[in-house]
Amino acid sequence: MGVVTYPKDGSDCDELIEKSFLALDKAKNEKLNFWIYESEAVDVNYNNIELLGDIDNSMKENNFELYYQPKIDLKTNQVDAYEALIRWNHPKEGFIPPAQFIPKVERSSLIEPLTDWVIKQSIDDILEYSEIANSKDLHVAINISARNFQDPSFIERLFEYLDKCKLDPNKFAIEITETDLMIEMDKNIQKLSQLREKGVKIYLDDFGKGYSSLKYLKELPIDYIKIDQFFINDIENKTTNRDIVLSIVKLSHALNIKVVAEGVETKAQLDFLKNNNCDYAQGYYFTRPNKKEEIFKWTENFDKKQF
Ligand code: C2E
Ligand code: CA
Ligand code: CA
Repeated sequence: MGVVTYPKDGSDCDELIEKSFLALDKAKNEKLNFWIYESEAVDVNYNNIELLGDIDNSMKENNFELYYQPKIDLKTNQVDAYEALIRWNHPKEGFIPPAQFIPKVERSSLIEPLTDWVIKQSIDDILEYSEIANSKDLHVAINISARNFQDPSFIERLFEYLDKCKLDPNKFAIEITETDLMIEMDKNIQKLSQLREKGVKIYLDDFGKGYSSLKYLKELPIDYIKIDQFFINDIENKTTNRDIVLSIVKLSHALNIKVVAEGVETKAQLDFLKNNNCDYAQGYYFTRPNKKEEIFKWTENFDKKQF
């Protein structure tokens, strides 16, 4: 929840709403801190409107780039997939992390062309790296927002581009959070089914962080659950985090869903996950997200490494 107070935080409705969104972003970033007052949230150094204008230009001028981070199969010790993560090299402001601009873009219609750009770029990257295109199992996952799912032609455009490039939809996956699916859940279940029927894989992102509904979890047509990094973070020290991770693994397996742990940074975290039947892991312990050339090089040497 983002909280503003009148007249301290603003003198008119527009300003108050804008600032409540800033506070909301901050609250979301702080994960389990439920509300944030605007006065605690002023960390944006330049105007939202200016930022949104620049996104349009940056798409034209190729200032965006996709970085990739591998997901490792803990049973076979092989790369199973790559997550595509957007990077913005702003011509004036320099590097702007996605957490600073994605939440704002998600509230504007610009998320539609931006996600289209991500789809095209990731599919082109898959085709360029023939190891993925030719392998039976490897796939690439992109992140999508609630607003993409509300866009009535989103799935159509995705399918069109997959068909145009003759890419097997099995090579492609989307990651979406449960909170984002909550808006119009019944409609979204239908859309997820449509994607899955085509062969596109579905990840439920940031599991445990937002609003989880066990009733819906049973009905959601998904392939993977990603345990939010918050729970992995303190796994060595906090019994509650260990218990939560174990319960998520058990619950997912009972529902025939595979589990990915994100934000794995240490050997101790990895060992705990391996010993407790988690299927996949992703995190700095293996590698940070990086440019595709670097990640493909990393993958070629991966077999020789011991984790
Ligand atoms: P996410 O989807 O939960 O992605 C995981 C984030 O955790 C990434 O941050 C990744 O770099 C970071 N991460 C990976 N391993 C570790 C680790 O071991 N430790 C820690 N501390 N962090 C780790 P990033 O790349 O800054 O992205 C942040 C968020 O921005 C993403 O969270 C996602 O929600 C959003 N995002 C990124 N790219 C896109 C995109 O193309 N489209 C949309 N709609 N959202 C995106
Ligand atoms: Ca993700
Ligand atoms: Ca995540």
